[in-house]
Amino acid sequence: MSQPDMKVADMQERVDAITHAIKPRRLWNSIMEMAKYGATANGGVSRLALTETDNNVRITLMEWFNLPHYHFFVDAIGNLFIRRDGASPSSDPVMTGSHLDTQPSGGKFDGIYGVLAGLEVFRTLDDLELFTSRPLELTVWANEEGCRFVPGCMGSACFAQPEDLPHWQVITDSENISVKQAVACFHRTMSEVPHRPLGIPVHAYIEAHIEQGPILENSSATIGIVSGIQGCRDFQITITGMEAHAGTTPASSRHDAMKTAVLLLQDLYSVMDSAGEECRFTVGAFQVYPNSSSVVPGHVVFNIDLRHPSQSSLTTLGNKVIELSDKHSDRCAIHAKELRWRKPFEFKKTIPDLIQNAADRLKHPSKVLPSGASHDAVNLHLCCPTGMIFVPCEGGISHNEKENAALGDLHAGTQVLAEVLYRLAENIS
Ligand SMILES: [Zn+2]
Repeated sequence: MSQPDMKVADMQERVDAITHAIKPRRLWNSIMEMAKYGATANGGVSRLALTETDNNVRITLMEWFNLPHYHFFVDAIGNLFIRRDGASPSSDPVMTGSHLDTQPSGGKFDGIYGVLAGLEVFRTLDDLELFTSRPLELTVWANEEGCRFVPGCMGSACFAQPEDLPHWQVITDSENISVKQAVACFHRTMSEVPHRPLGIPVHAYIEAHIEQGPILENSSATIGIVSGIQGCRDFQITITGMEAHAGTTPASSRHDAMKTAVLLLQDLYSVMDSAGEECRFTVGAFQVYPNSSSVVPGHVVFNIDLRHPSQSSLTTLGNKVIELSDKHSDRCAIHAKELRWRKPFEFKKTIPDLIQNAADRLKHPSKVLPSGASHDAVNLHLCCPTGMIFVPCEGGISHNEKENAALGDLHAGTQVLAEVLYRLAENIS
């Protein structure tokens, strides 16, 4: 056997040792321990970003890394970094992580799984007394959920684009507390932890997450290889007719904003339904004025949330919203205002390929899929090669106190994460 072949064989042995040494029960126990912080009566978690409960859960996480080769850092937006020494300390770290904040009636796994899968990988490397060449970092991103401070993915967005810090700092919650004040409070709770600049160089980022949808479960796949994040176009449709008496106004004289809205929506649902499963069309907010049962509505406002993983389909379908709004502007005026157009993107192949290879080698059935939800990885994608590992969640239910996942799937995702992190930190593929 030549020298390079021996090295490859040696490396493969180590990768096998690491993936076999992941302890699923220890992972599960850490998830259940974290779920005690902000536990709700219905078995969920309520842990809003940068609250006392959120700060306490981070302190507990840090206590679990009480070994001399771990170092903690915070930054100006409230992200927390746990660095594991590498043999080559000056090289850029390989990063993993997610978030520990939840929705007001959230579950035990969304975000938390990604952080604690990283914890389990680091613990396994400690068990085996293995050190990587590059340092590894576990990151807890601040305010991913975006419910206390809008919008979400704030910590990772600010990490990727530090120049936006002043813009984020002035955002306030419902009690008029600013992000800057909440972060200062977080810093006070961990006054010993050194500060680090935003946006340090990162070699690669991998985030493990529950799918938050039913695709993996329905296709009996254990590992989701996330190809990218779908794009979205948001519209606000305003229909203006004329208020009139419900009893005295003949049909031919009416300018009924509700009727126009219904006819427009009928056409829109028909177009979107025939665009296939990948098209996500939602009208979730609808207002009618004056909202009185004996008045012909003079005014209707509703919002459209349209998402699709293909740029050309998103363009065509979004344009259809504008086209059909024009078509129905006869008895009432329709104004279609576009609020947001975020293009879909695909992760560069490097990390998804590593995830695919690890899943195949470990014989975990896998499926390539785009993410329907946004994640911190969207922002890290701007900094370094990035990828995401999805695992199924029960019934695809998430952002719900009933959110659940199978231990076997969580274990499989952590094994894949371990292999990819180790290969990247050892500069092998
Ligand atoms: Zn999440």
